[in-house]
Amino acid sequence: MTQSNMTTKYNDTFDVAILGAGIAGTVLATILAKQGVRVLIIDAEVHPRFAVGESTIPHTSLLFSMLGEKYGLRELDDLAYPDRIAKRICTTCGIKRSFSFCYHRSGEEFNPKEAHQFGTSSKDENHFFRQDIDAYLLYLAVHYGAEQRQNAKVATVDIDQQGVTIKTADGESFQARYVVDGTGYKSILAERFDLREKPTRFKHHSRTLFTHMVDVKPFDEVAPTLSLPWHQSTLHHVIERGWFWVIPFNNREGSTNPLISVGLTIDPRKYPKPDNVSPEKEFQQFVERFPSVAKQFVNAKAVRPWVSTNRLQYSSKKCSGYRFCLMSHAAGALDPLFSRGFINTLEIIGALVDPLLEALAENDFAEERFMPVERLHQRVLDYNDRLVNGAFISWADFDLWNAWIRVWAAGTILTEFRLMKALADYTATHDQAYLQGEAKAPVFSDFEDPDYADFFFKAVPIIEAFEAGAFPAKEAAARLFALMDSYEFSVLLSREAMRRAGWLGENEILSDRNLRIAREGYRWALTNPNTRDMFGTVDTFFRWRSKKDDALFVSNEKSEFTFA
Ligand SMILES: Cc1cc2nc3c(=O)[nH]c(=O)nc-3n(C[C@H](O)[C@H](O)[C@H](O)COP(=O)(O)OP(=O)(O)OC[C@H]3O[C@@H](n4cnc5c(N)ncnc54)[C@H](O)[C@@H]3O)c2cc1C
Repeated sequence: MTQSNMTTKYNDTFDVAILGAGIAGTVLATILAKQGVRVLIIDAEVHPRFAVGESTIPHTSLLFSMLGEKYGLRELDDLAYPDRIAKRICTTCGIKRSFSFCYHRSGEEFNPKEAHQFGTSSKDENHFFRQDIDAYLLYLAVHYGAEQRQNAKVATVDIDQQGVTIKTADGESFQARYVVDGTGYKSILAERFDLREKPTRFKHHSRTLFTHMVDVKPFDEVAPTLSLPWHQSTLHHVIERGWFWVIPFNNREGSTNPLISVGLTIDPRKYPKPDNVSPEKEFQQFVERFPSVAKQFVNAKAVRPWVSTNRLQYSSKKCSGYRFCLMSHAAGALDPLFSRGFINTLEIIGALVDPLLEALAENDFAEERFMPVERLHQRVLDYNDRLVNGAFISWADFDLWNAWIRVWAAGTILTEFRLMKALADYTATHDQAYLQGEAKAPVFSDFEDPDYADFFFKAVPIIEAFEAGAFPAKEAAARLFALMDSYEFSVLLSREAMRRAGWLGENEILSDRNLRIAREGYRWALTNPNTRDMFGTVDTFFRWRSKKDDALFVSNEKSEFTFA
């Protein structure tokens, strides 16, 4: 097709123009196109292209499944399962069996007693190799009828009573009735309508350095394996006011990708960005401070240029308005620590689609229609801000981190169970009521569990009071554990829900008794300071049942492992 007849083809008015063909834009375009909406999706680059943001969590997968179920898109459900991704999409993604967090002190070897491993569930999660996942999702959107333009950098967007006019840097022009901005932190609409908060309201401060590498040693060759191999996890090495990530793509049997995503995220107030030091050199200098981390990276080589950012956090005064809405990453960002970027993105998509379909049907794009999306945008980002900020504060002391990690874990686990139940109930009945969270919003964010919401908003002042010097770290940790102990945190685990989410195989049996043990076990393990390897294996489960601390703590024997 020549450029001139392309221009002619695109001259009509689209229902929705989506700026940015990242994961946000392509998932939304797929859903809308499947609903018969005339969608145009425009990206400055050409797929496949590099993108960061690789690790999923059960919450992410459950949201993909929920969107897939609701809009009749089996392909979105596929994204929840590593084996289906390998079969139907690409063989370049890795698996994630756990979140692993290893605590490090400068100049000291890592102590395995200062680590946590939270299994992702009985089903594996994913390390998305974004260039392949995003390209697939764009093709999927096109398959369902979206029209696409790549290599088309959007330069201006104008909105008036008649509609939206989009112009690219090359002078092409498109008309649409509504526009969604999925261009990420460079958000065209935030710039155009002066939406950014300057400075951001977020408390958290971090900057990051990242690349893809080869020959990063599995951490299991450096330190004893806890419950599940470190190499099959998203591995976080946490340090004072910072953390490294190690996200292997080569850890799934049958993977054809030798790469490992590597990054370092640090507080610029403690570690200002140096002049005249390359990101590679700066990363190396950090690695060398932590002997066990240094061993893991001894032979590692970057295969693409390092990226070094300034402060990562940004926020917006407004995320939606007359005829427009921002995707989550265009609206704001915090820190990749707990892999919450995709869930924020998917929650916003889930909240936006139905009001947008109604607005298109009624040809009424009044701002008020989208107010629930607006409120959700701000809430998911504010929650993440407090959560990550608390983690960075807690890294001053291992015991405090051991308490704060449970503030995160309680929220994420309780939400998974609630969402899993909703997915199973919805799949069985297709009753929309099951898609409403407690707050009657179409989301299942951590803060919607009534116990957890109350707990979280009391936990935050404790960690912040510690930061302000009100009491020592050990006391802050004790206060957090005592607070946690005062909540029931009921676990809504059911067989049907586990089966729908792939946590229980078709032929696997889970007796009532074992289900009860599991429910009680989660609550106990979450609030016991000497549980480090949550949800690892059947062994772990039996240990919880008899309320035993982790093997690391009950045995006085020295680990047989010797450091290399
Ligand atoms: C360092 C880092 C690590 C992260 N890790 C995780 C993680 O492990 N797990 C997780 O859930 N989340 C993570 N996130 C968040 C995650 O990356 C985002 O939530 C996700 O990428 C958002 O996708 P998106 O489609 O909104 O934006 P992007 O993936 O950034 O896509 C934006 C698209 O817009 C296009 N674009 C930009 N400007 C223009 C323009 N002018 N015209 C046309 N097109 C344009 C770009 O080419 C790009 O294709 C991380 C974020 C960062 C910064």
